[in-house]
Amino acid sequence: MKSSLLEISYLIGSVTFILGLKMMGNPKTARKGNLIAAGGMILAILGTIFLFEKHDHMGVVDTSFVVPGMVYGLIFGAIGLGTVVGWLTAKRVQMTKMPELVSMFNGMGGACAALIGLMEYQHYLGETGALSAIIAGMVIGSVSFSGSVIAYLKLNGTMKKPLRLPQYNILNTVVMISVVAFGAWVVYASPDNMTILYALFFAALIYGILFTIPIGGADMPVVSSLLNSFTGLAAAFGGFLYDNKIMLTGGILVGSAGTLLTLIMCKAMNRPLSNAIFGAFPGGGATAEREIAGNIKDINISDTAVLMNYSKKVVIVPGYGLAVAQAQHVIHELEMILEERGVSVKYAIHPVAGRMPGHMNVLLAESNVSYDKLVEMEDINPEFSSTDVVLVVGANDVVNPAAHNDPASPIYGMPILDVENAAHIIVNKRSMSAGYAGIENELFFNPKTSMLFGDAKDVLAKLVTELKSL
Ligand code: NDP
Repeated sequence: MKSSLLEISYLIGSVTFILGLKMMGNPKTARKGNLIAAGGMILAILGTIFLFEKHDHMGVVDTSFVVPGMVYGLIFGAIGLGTVVGWLTAKRVQMTKMPELVSMFNGMGGACAALIGLMEYQHYLGETGALSAIIAGMVIGSVSFSGSVIAYLKLNGTMKKPLRLPQYNILNTVVMISVVAFGAWVVYASPDNMTILYALFFAALIYGILFTIPIGGADMPVVSSLLNSFTGLAAAFGGFLYDNKIMLTGGILVGSAGTLLTLIMCKAMNRPLSNAIFGAFPGGGATAEREIAGNIKDINISDTAVLMNYSKKVVIVPGYGLAVAQAQHVIHELEMILEERGVSVKYAIHPVAGRMPGHMNVLLAESNVSYDKLVEMEDINPEFSSTDVVLVVGANDVVNPAAHNDPASPIYGMPILDVENAAHIIVNKRSMSAGYAGIENELFFNPKTSMLFGDAKDVLAKLVTELKSL
């Protein structure tokens, strides 16, 4: 009876995951989708704790199996602790620090999958099927854990430059093949020796580090989402091991969603996936820089206000700097004033603007910008030629023409927002500093470009005041 109820709770949980994921596809329903999936997860966790029954090989319930009270205490103690730490961290984190947090949480998922392998190995010695799931889950989980820690350090700026060992590409491939061969041998030989298992665990951790350290700057998002799919895969192996449907569904969903996102990101950044897997991203960090000819032209607040006020069509390009400055509310105010004056305003959303997938959508949704105004890159690019003013706010790499015309650039080939086609380009940033990829931007030297220097929140607030006075 209890087992049937448990299966039903897993089924409900699995349905909520799929439903939640579907709802997350639309910004309007995303929040609700997240809550529904979380509800399903809580149901499955409580079901596992209270409804689990041990069966013997014939499938008969082992009535002598009782979970000691102490174990319940430990489980709820751990859940309580995890909930408080997770809740407080997520509540306090700034939007700009979200990618680091996601990376860290992802790493924790990988660590859980690795721990399952370490705990269960000796219970399944000699069972090739179960051992395959255990070793695969442990190895992939360990790679995901150590890789995510490095991704975290890179995203929060602690590890600034890609670290490339001599022949790192060949070295990484050799280490990867060795780890896989070692894992296969452990499954085949099934040695009753934990030291060997720990050796495999550490070898996988080292591969995770080697895999992530050479990857630099602009390519980090692809790696984060690839590691995310690894964690899903590792959890799915746990689901196989325990014949646990919800773990399997959850793992497969995370694994496939992560893989899809990786592919989409690869396309957006024009990086082949094979390079991601073998740790061989070209560039991604400061490389040989070209001298850029031309002059920088400044514009002041009042001239910008006049230019925008008398435009028919304005496109705003938000970037990472908008998030840093927390200028999402004031930009919405600017948009509303312009719209009241009959100016058509849209936001051009580049898939990797900001520091995490969907960063700009989340940021602008926070200030209630209407979703119809957020236009994706492929749809807005043909519109720039009919745009009077493009206002670039805290964006840099996503509007860098080097992606089109400098084969030596680390971002060469990455699709960008073609703002150069607009009649006037106004770029707001604080200085001439580079963006994430660490490279100069010739857009700033374009005769059509005017630089509006200053902190985005400050500058936009002044622009709003100026517009109101017109
Ligand atoms: P960039 O990082 O290229 O540029 C941001 C610009 O914002 C900087 O040049 C900076 O210039 C400016 N800035 C910073 N603070 C402020 C402020 N307070 N007010 C005004 N401007 C400010 O951002 P993009 O969004 O154009 O590009 C995103 C980059 O991040 C891409 O290279 C992408 O690959 C990478 N990335 C994306 C991830 C994703 O998933 N979206 C994840 C990780 C990396 P200044 O200092 O002069 O003000």
